[in-house]
Amino acid sequence: MNICVMPGDGIGREIVAQALRVLDKVGAKFGKKFETQEALIGGCAIDATGGPLPEETVRLCKAADAVLLGAVGGPKWDTIDPAIRPERGLLGIRKELGLFANLRPASLFPELKHACYLRPDIVAKGIDLLVVRELTGGAYFGTPKGVEVRDGERVGFNNMIYSEHEIRRIAKVGFEAARKRRKQLCSVDKANVLDVSRLWREVVIEVSKDYPDVALSHMYVDNAAMQLVRDPSQFDVIVTENLFGDILSDEASVITGSIGMLPSASLGAGNPGLFEPIHGSAPDIAGQNKANPLATILSVAMLLRYSFSDMDEPAAAIEAAVQKALQAGYRTGDIREEGCKLVGCVEMADVVLANL
Ligand code: NAD
Repeated sequence: MNICVMPGDGIGREIVAQALRVLDKVGAKFGKKFETQEALIGGCAIDATGGPLPEETVRLCKAADAVLLGAVGGPKWDTIDPAIRPERGLLGIRKELGLFANLRPASLFPELKHACYLRPDIVAKGIDLLVVRELTGGAYFGTPKGVEVRDGERVGFNNMIYSEHEIRRIAKVGFEAARKRRKQLCSVDKANVLDVSRLWREVVIEVSKDYPDVALSHMYVDNAAMQLVRDPSQFDVIVTENLFGDILSDEASVITGSIGMLPSASLGAGNPGLFEPIHGSAPDIAGQNKANPLATILSVAMLLRYSFSDMDEPAAAIEAAVQKALQAGYRTGDIREEGCKLVGCVEMADVVLANL
């Protein structure tokens, strides 16, 4: 199994190095061999080649079974030509790999409940949900779009447009993800107002016929935004379109309160998926062994679960090892609390490895 690894910038190299130790160990434990190849992306690629996404990187990613990414960007590249900014590398590789589905779990380890922004009685019910966001369609990409002068004033417009095949393929990702979890899928739309949402709902219902084992429900997006803070425990998997998903996935992750804990996956059809922590390159703590490696380690768990058909068990083993580290009281600076054992990036990975 061939994995393309792109550490990127800032803390990217530190956290990815620890995640790779975990990958090696889980491979040895379960008798799997992972080949890894490193590629440049973001600021380090700009420094080495003049651009954020070298052709060689695209080639290596396309040839791999899965891609693991650290983070890109930093102050060094903040003032360069926007056309070759580090983030361009990210957008570029998503496009090259046709990644149309973004999977963002928001789960709160009970050990970190103090970090959650919600009331204790809400937190007590648990948070373990997954937002599946459509990534390449809707209002962010639809045409016509623009700003023009009509009747003497400026008018701005975008087009939230989805074709049937785009809805069908993201719905399938949602149902498949629900099958791997608690088998509940909530499709979020605005079908009471938007025509595009009415089609969304129709197609999701059609796709549901192939998944009789998954319980499908529907919710309007304004209600979903409320329910996420009122009672997030009611959700297993949420599937929604690009703009709604952008907002809801950020809302879901921020309520857990710990950016250094959350992994993500972006999936395409027939191409390798891309797995990365949701946080950025954290230049303020880069190179100081302070970064929390757990989001990247949990991204490896997602990589195994969503890239290979027979890797649910190793993925679960990684997640359990992370939970044990937290249960034992180990914390990096970002999730520290009174009475905890404060550790650095390498030491946190050491504890996870020992638990594996
Ligand atoms: P950030 O996520 O890098 O950092 C926000 C805060 O969270 C910082 O205080 C940081 O120290 C802390 N933090 C983040 N990850 C952490 C971890 N693993 N352990 C401990 N603390 C952690 O966001 P930012 O400061 O807005 O952006 C910094 C750079 O990262 C920018 O150049 C931005 O463009 C880039 N960025 C990249 C990505 C990506 O690669 N996907 C995402 C967001 C931001």
